[in-house]
Amino acid sequence: MSRAAPYTNRMDDAFLAQLRCPIDPEREATLTRDEQQLVCSGCSVHFAIKQGLPILVPDEAELPDGMREVSQLPCQRRANRRKNAN
Ligand SMILES: [Zn+2]
Repeated sequence: MSRAAPYTNRMDDAFLAQLRCPIDPEREATLTRDEQQLVCSGCSVHFAIKQGLPILVPDEAELPDGMREVSQLPCQRRANRRKNAN
């Protein structure tokens, strides 16, 4: 008989490994768990976890210090540079 996993551990590693940052134009940046948040490995944006589910919505994301909007993130600027180069 297996014990039910604690509520906060509902999001297992396999599930986490499939998630990608919704802000990343390439959809390649992975997310790592940090307490009750997910942190993007690419742009360091934090996404809240509410009731066991990550809120992967750019508008709700917490930007790194010194950034006021999503377009200031390095991954966005990289994408824009690529666009301009074409
Ligand atoms: Zn990101």
